Amino acid sequence: MDKIQMVDLGRQYEHIRDEVDAAVLNVVASTQYINGPEVKAFQKELEDYLGVSHVVPCANGTDALQVAMMALGLKPGDEVITTTFTFVATVEVIALLGLRPVLVDVDPDTFNIDPLAVEKAITPKTKAVVPVHLFGQSAQMEPLLDIANRHGLYVIEDNAQAIGADYLFSNGSRKKTGSMGHIGCTSFFPSKNLGCYGDGGAIFTNDHALAQKMRYIVNHGMQTRYYHDQVGVNSRLDSIQAAILRIKLPRLDSYNQARQQAAASYDAAFNGHPGLQIPVRSPFSTHVFHQYTLKTSGIDRFALQEHLMGKGVPAMVYYPVPMHLQKAYTDPRYKEGDFPVTEDLCKRVISLPIHTELDPEQTETITGSVLEFFDR
Ligand SMILES: *Cc1c(COP(=O)(O)O)cnc(C)c1O
Repeated sequence: MDKIQMVDLGRQYEHIRDEVDAAVLNVVASTQYINGPEVKAFQKELEDYLGVSHVVPCANGTDALQVAMMALGLKPGDEVITTTFTFVATVEVIALLGLRPVLVDVDPDTFNIDPLAVEKAITPKTKAVVPVHLFGQSAQMEPLLDIANRHGLYVIEDNAQAIGADYLFSNGSRKKTGSMGHIGCTSFFPSKNLGCYGDGGAIFTNDHALAQKMRYIVNHGMQTRYYHDQVGVNSRLDSIQAAILRIKLPRLDSYNQARQQAAASYDAAFNGHPGLQIPVRSPFSTHVFHQYTLKTSGIDRFALQEHLMGKGVPAMVYYPVPMHLQKAYTDPRYKEGDFPVTEDLCKRVISLPIHTELDPEQTETITGSVLEFFDR
């Protein structure tokens, strides 16, 4: 049996090695390293996949969020509402731009931002809301879009963990996560569902003017070379990374299916276990399992993690500390106890290996090792 890893990028590469090696060498020989034809082609292919009018490639998912907020003209002191249960990047860029992160709690089942809590947090200074589609499942977009619409707020979707997932509207229509707000952002960090072999990211929108503005911002605020009409950044997707992403994008749906299959075998082993709550599937989203996250009860999950490590099974805690209790983001408005759902989750969750290459022998080892912990 192959060594079990949280994400097995090596085995995934083996299946596409010939195509990837040829594509990379092709870019090297072309000398079109920045904004070359591969980037333009990938941009178009991703627009088609997501069903959006504009994709703006950039250097990483954190920059995608930052550029989105810059393009919307958010100003220091403006409030941006987001979830306290997320990866730091979401909150980091809000703070970096001098905006005020306003944090809210999540739904205890899906771990996604609670729309009612968002509505309660709105003040006259609120300009935007950033739902994060955490662990591979869409936030509850229909009520969020309605709230944003009624209060004149921008919606920026942090889709770094859910690319390929569908949101199901109550009228039966479906949309890809990242395509529903004013702007959607994603990351192509290697371990994401659509990952490249370095850093990469992209921003999506259906608004032509916003897309133009973001294309200038990612390139030093430059429309005509050496004429700078606005403050920008240097944030571009490398041609080599675009060439790799063009090979992986057509496989994204089958990659997500492989993740769903691994999740199903975990579910079968853990469903109904008194100490383990399997991931709750939202009725309004498909789940692309960026993470397979269990909610434990009555155990020390770090002891479980150590037990698993002894069996050659890695496991991780995403995330041990909510944003409002992070030193960098302490704020006199927030204290321990303010967001009880997230604080409880941070004490109970543990994520198992999930990727495109897990075989039945590996998932059996993983589930067997988890169950053994409870039978000791
Ligand atoms: C990975 C991630 C990001 C940041 O992406 P990078 O490409 O690493 O900058 C932002 N938000 C969430 C929720 C993420 O998981």
